[in-house]
Amino acid sequence: MSSGDAPYDALTKLLASVPRCHFAHLPTPLEPLTRLSAEVGGPPLWIKRDDCTGLAVGGNKTRKLEFLVGEALEQGADTLLSFGAVQSNHARQTAAAAARAGLACRLVLVDMVEYSEPAYENSGNVLLDHLLGAEITIVSSQAEAASAAGRIIDEETAAGRKVYGIPTGGSNAVGALGYVDCAREIFRQNRDQGVRVGTVVTAVSSAGTLAGLAAGFAALDPDVNVVGINVYDKDFEAQETTLRGLAAEVCETLGIQRPEPSRVELRHEFLAEGYGVPNAGVMDVVQRVASVEGVLLDPVYTGKAMAGLLSLIAGGSLGDGSSDAVVFLHTGGTPGLFAYRDAIDPR
Ligand SMILES: *Cc1c(COP(=O)(O)O)cnc(C)c1O
Repeated sequence: MSSGDAPYDALTKLLASVPRCHFAHLPTPLEPLTRLSAEVGGPPLWIKRDDCTGLAVGGNKTRKLEFLVGEALEQGADTLLSFGAVQSNHARQTAAAAARAGLACRLVLVDMVEYSEPAYENSGNVLLDHLLGAEITIVSSQAEAASAAGRIIDEETAAGRKVYGIPTGGSNAVGALGYVDCAREIFRQNRDQGVRVGTVVTAVSSAGTLAGLAAGFAALDPDVNVVGINVYDKDFEAQETTLRGLAAEVCETLGIQRPEPSRVELRHEFLAEGYGVPNAGVMDVVQRVASVEGVLLDPVYTGKAMAGLLSLIAGGSLGDGSSDAVVFLHTGGTPGLFAYRDAIDPR
């Protein structure tokens, strides 16, 4: 259906030509954070509810998996292989997508987070991975993950199966198309709901989400700023390189213009003690947003990203003096709450 907006229609058509499965409940809601906005007293805050994508507790990986599994099926694969931390939301959504598509799923999970409580090892996402029927291999380093992957591919191939490998976080030029599509969805919702979006803020680990959003907004509305809060990589330069490389690759795939570098920003100062390590400031924000808005954030991704957003607004470097909306992309992570129960409530 034509919307009467040429860049929007062109992007819709480009995305429609790519193989895709449909697992997500779309569009996800775009809602005002009325009570939090009033407390903060800055620009109007909105939330894009990608925690509600619907596949086995939802989250941002589901949009990526629609395109990745679309490609896997096109290639005739019968087994998905992917990677993540023990509490990987991506691994859980991959296991669910495999189940939905009738594929087998092998997961290699790296026990590398400097945080430990019994629930981290056996509840939350990893519990759901088992329930969803994935075959799990736990290793203790990235190097071991690479050799385990090699063994799994050999084993499956020898058994006559065809493996489709999905990188950590589903972040390659195919997976990132899911967030080009999300930018399209936000653009449309803003117009239909009469909101003027100035900035979109999201947590960043493997960077496909931010890269896809940056590419999508470059095509649709180059005045939109996208801000990523690094929650993963201690090598800041490497993460910048990954992000810009991925965004460029996505734009090349679609034949659209690259984002203006000044419109895409990565902030590193909220990583604190590192990936997956909760801290008091983040736990306060998780508690605050839950009690003020009834919205559940998590300690690993969305809590840190929201802590970053609130701190940037307080410091005057986000939405200062503008009535344009700041949209927080809620990327999911809800099962992580159960894996970090001691950090939430030590009783
Ligand atoms: C994976 C994940 C992210 C980060 O997305 P990337 O595309 O890997 O940068 C953010 N939030 C949650 C809850 C995630 O699971």
